[in-house]
Amino acid sequence: MTAIEVTDLVAGLNRLARNLWWSWDQDAQELFYDLSPRGWQNLYHNAVAILKEVSPYELRVRLGDPSFADRARAILARFDAYVSTPDTWGALNAPALKANPVAYFSAEFAFHETLPIAAGGLGVLAGDHAKSASDLGIGFVGISLFYREGYFQQSINQDNWQTEYYTQLNPANLPLEPVLAANGELLVGSVKIASSTVHFHAWRVNIGRCPVYLLDTNRPENEPMFRDLTLRVYGGDSTTRIMQEIVLGVGGVRLLRALGIKPSTFHMNEGHAAFLTLELIREKIALGKSFPEASSATKSECLFTTHTPVEAGHDRFSSDLMRYAGHGLGSDLHLQPTQLMDLGRVRTGDASETFCMTVLALRYSRAANGVSELHGAVSREMWMNFFGAKSPEEVPIGHVTNGIHLVGWMKGTVRKIWQKKYHQLYTGKSDTDWIADANSPEFWSRLADPSVTSDQEIWSIRYRLRRELIEFARRRLLLQGGTFTHRDFITFDSFLNPDALTIGFARRFATYKRAPLIFDQFEAVVKLVKDTGHPIQFVFAGKAHPRDDSGKGFIQKVIHLSKFSELKGNLVFIENYDIHVARQMVSGCDVWLNNPRRPLEASGTSGMKTTAHGCLNLSIMDGWWREGYNGNNGFAIGPDSHPDDIDEQDRIDSENLYEVLTKEVIPTFFNRDSNGIPQLWVAKIREAWRTLAAEYSTWRMVQEYTNKYYLKR
Ligand SMILES: *Cc1c(COP(=O)(O)O)cnc(C)c1O
Repeated sequence: MTAIEVTDLVAGLNRLARNLWWSWDQDAQELFYDLSPRGWQNLYHNAVAILKEVSPYELRVRLGDPSFADRARAILARFDAYVSTPDTWGALNAPALKANPVAYFSAEFAFHETLPIAAGGLGVLAGDHAKSASDLGIGFVGISLFYREGYFQQSINQDNWQTEYYTQLNPANLPLEPVLAANGELLVGSVKIASSTVHFHAWRVNIGRCPVYLLDTNRPENEPMFRDLTLRVYGGDSTTRIMQEIVLGVGGVRLLRALGIKPSTFHMNEGHAAFLTLELIREKIALGKSFPEASSATKSECLFTTHTPVEAGHDRFSSDLMRYAGHGLGSDLHLQPTQLMDLGRVRTGDASETFCMTVLALRYSRAANGVSELHGAVSREMWMNFFGAKSPEEVPIGHVTNGIHLVGWMKGTVRKIWQKKYHQLYTGKSDTDWIADANSPEFWSRLADPSVTSDQEIWSIRYRLRRELIEFARRRLLLQGGTFTHRDFITFDSFLNPDALTIGFARRFATYKRAPLIFDQFEAVVKLVKDTGHPIQFVFAGKAHPRDDSGKGFIQKVIHLSKFSELKGNLVFIENYDIHVARQMVSGCDVWLNNPRRPLEASGTSGMKTTAHGCLNLSIMDGWWREGYNGNNGFAIGPDSHPDDIDEQDRIDSENLYEVLTKEVIPTFFNRDSNGIPQLWVAKIREAWRTLAAEYSTWRMVQEYTNKYYLKR
């Protein structure tokens, strides 16, 4: 190989590391891993940092090995084919979005564990939306903020109480590229906040074919308080919040204009970005349109997705705060402060009503949707007053049920197995075809056929994944330390039982998700855990919002039980829940528990991540599971209804949970045939593949958004 060829490969790998496409390509990950296995672990799977960990000389020497160079060449060829193929679903079905893309605004995006700029499910959904938009090849641009201290890291103190700490992200070590103006300098924009001009620059994250731009106010010319505006995800109080949202909404539109991007639709993922509508109106007024003309033209450009019926999930700002922080918004539109306030009110003129970002978003969107069928119905009811409707049916809010980026969520272990089976089943197909076909119901039906995947094989994969989770959990317990005793450190290797039915629960510890619900029946659960013939065990993880003491109380309760009750060794809490922990858990657990207070779980997505791994859902009939469950593809807790009284609901749900656990889940799991296989359990896994895997993917979801909303004006 010539020196020039090596130089090309080095440049190629640097390009690859800065496009998160590699995170859903198995070979690409393994290549980075092989450059430095220990570094891969210590640097938390960061390809950019790996390329800095090895010296330029070491990299060239490694690429001098023809087999290593061949691997790199094949990956780069596949990557180049992926980003450049004209032959995509989007090219065929949504060509108009090529020149005029969808601009998708979200206060958070979760792409990868090394870029922790999301708080939870909303960000994961946004990240998965971007990845599937790329896979499908539709015109798509993302807008968010660069939080250089990200979301908090969780640690647990001596009282088993969550405490938060922050680490600084270094853009140079991340898959980020500074956004430059035509003159080669940083592109700098500005917005008006309070009586100041706040400047921002931006970082570009490459998600396959799609760019996502992250605005950053950390600029020397800004007053110190504004430099830190984008410091943390949802950081600080409502003053910080409104200011962040002005940067996101108004600044985001200005960045797109500066880049010459002409979106056909501005999609607001939750109300945080709704100030973008005011910027779009301002632009039109500046061109001579009247306020009503500008409003209706803006409305035709915008789409809004609401994500929660929980009141605290809807941003509200007082008139004082709007007058202070947002007066630039009003004055640019020649509106009096009360007129501006009215844009965020259900009852205009009602001075007692605060400014609600959801109302602003609804007011200026041509269409709005919830994220599951039930959530659509709940949202129609919730916003009847705003639309002046006499019945919920009159409210123009639809629904698109969420999904996940299926190939990206597969743990490497199964991604390799399924991809290999794919190539055996579908001869002559490329690895790019795999990404599309892995999202087809047909692939999963074929996979579910016993002649393709035998009972033994499924059961063996389940054992492999469960063991991988248990070993991961033991390693994390060692690192966590905390209030365990010295003896515990030696016994960690006996924590969790590789033969036990493993029940997982991991999500934000918002109180409506009721993390400790299963322990309401404590004595009964201890009996189940101690049943040596049919043992069960629990793995928990999750963060509470820094100001949510009730949520932190739930964490404390679970950790306390894991350390000081009879459940010790059979219940573990893994600290610092993030995408990586999520991937270990949704793959390694046998059952994924979800017991929210209905109907507050708008969709929920973590349960969708389990299917490809043969883990089954056990959930209240809320959010996506109400649509997904068909009687044979997992387990339901209680009926498709709920009492209005909350205490009553908690009591009934806890009873129903115990009932289905003891009457269905545990017996099915431990009912083994003469080969030692739980046939009925495996049959449910097959049914889940057939009915859930493709349906609850963002591949399906983004197509639905495209056909239902993006292409309709
Ligand atoms: C998937 C995911 C979520 C969302 O889970 P829900 O079931 O919707 O609560 C939150 N956080 C992380 C890290 C995730 O991976």
